[in-house]
Amino acid sequence: MNLRPHHALCIQKFTGHGYDEKFTAHMTGTVKVLRDRPETPVELVSGCDDLCAACPNNIRGSCSTPEKVEATDAGVLSALSLSAGDVLPWDRLSERARREIFGTEKFPEICASCEWYNLCRDTDTNIL
Ligand code: SF4
Ligand code: SF4
Repeated sequence: MNLRPHHALCIQKFTGHGYDEKFTAHMTGTVKVLRDRPETPVELVSGCDDLCAACPNNIRGSCSTPEKVEATDAGVLSALSLSAGDVLPWDRLSERARREIFGTEKFPEICASCEWYNLCRDTDTNIL
């Protein structure tokens, strides 16, 4: 599976809300795959990924808010000491994100500018 780095956070905070019906259904399916097979290899990518594929903000293969999502991706990579192109199993990636981001002040630093932040802040992680 290909994921933008910040989607390692969004997946763990997903509660069924999304940009539209198609995106939400696709996200729900992705969460199920990762819950059922936590060893799934994830490649961190710098552009649109397997979640963006179903997003209405994906305009011909590019996110419509590139600066915002690139900054969020950079914050996640820095916090986890990872780089685009790295591949690791979902369970290791998600555990590192919980330990190094959700459990620290880095969570608001990385995510506070996101429109979903208040919801995510108030939501427990849903993949353990
Ligand atoms: S605040 Fe935004 S970027 Fe951060 S986990 Fe939630 S949806 Fe993802
Ligand atoms: S296209 Fe942009 S808004 Fe949509 S899922 Fe991808 S990064 Fe997020």
